[in-house]
Amino acid sequence: MTVTRRGVLRGTAAAAVGAAGAVGIRSAADAATQRGTEGSAVQREPVEFTWWGNHAWQIRSGGVTVLTDPWLTRFKTGTYSPEGADDTTRIVSKPAIIDKYVTTADAILVHHGHYDHLPDVPYIARRTKATVLGNETHLNLLRALRAPEDQLSQVVGGEYLPFTGFTVEVFRSLHSCGGARHQFAYPGTRPGAVPPKPRTIADLVEGGTLAYVITIGGLRILSLSTAGFDPISLKDLEVDVVLAAPGGEPGVTDRLLATLKPVRTVVATHWDDFDQPLDEPAVDWGGLAKLRASALAAGADFKTVDHLQTLTL
Ligand SMILES: [Zn+2]
Repeated sequence: MTVTRRGVLRGTAAAAVGAAGAVGIRSAADAATQRGTEGSAVQREPVEFTWWGNHAWQIRSGGVTVLTDPWLTRFKTGTYSPEGADDTTRIVSKPAIIDKYVTTADAILVHHGHYDHLPDVPYIARRTKATVLGNETHLNLLRALRAPEDQLSQVVGGEYLPFTGFTVEVFRSLHSCGGARHQFAYPGTRPGAVPPKPRTIADLVEGGTLAYVITIGGLRILSLSTAGFDPISLKDLEVDVVLAAPGGEPGVTDRLLATLKPVRTVVATHWDDFDQPLDEPAVDWGGLAKLRASALAAGADFKTVDHLQTLTL
């Protein structure tokens, strides 16, 4: 693989920042110095965030592409209807829809196993040849859905993974929960043997939740697939951007933003009713106002992008 001199320099500096950020040892002054150094050695390059609804993001910079939970088929489940999701909904993945939007990918980051995150990953992995990161359960569910085995990379939280042109740090995380009993849908894990092929949305168990920090184009992005997070793993973490989801327990996003070092930009994710079409404007399921209030109270810029639109940072 050919790596430009610029690419090598960028990778090295990004690695240094990533490693320090992961263990939270930098003071604010150190950070400023390091950013200054970084600025002279490494150009900040534009990073393009394209939103395919839910937590499906295409993040691109310098000719490399990272996808988060790329789910574009958006089969109807009733999740945000008064009745809730129909457990018997069959899982389908539609290449005709995916092929309209997905072109290339270097890595696919699986955050948890639910039906609105996982089902299109096998097809997209096969088409793009991207490396797929996920925990044991996520990968077993993907194997059961016939994902290409040699592209799967098992992670658990704590990994620091340098790719060409970007790095990925993996963190333990938690799914959001709610209601009087603090529950979430389809809990469970599938360790060990590969389970039977999932057929309905109830077969896609949550399987544990991961968070990722992607460092790309000199920008550090924390990607969270639900409002839940692990306060121990993320304590004093330094990032530039957080992809944050509404919902969850009252005050959870306030606690997230108090756990991290002050963040410049919060980008809303997973805020659309995914029974509504991807090629029409996103319909807020009702969580966006609270998410915005939390971001602004923490002194961050709050950004939303509509379906299929691109935000450049
Ligand atoms: Zn979920």
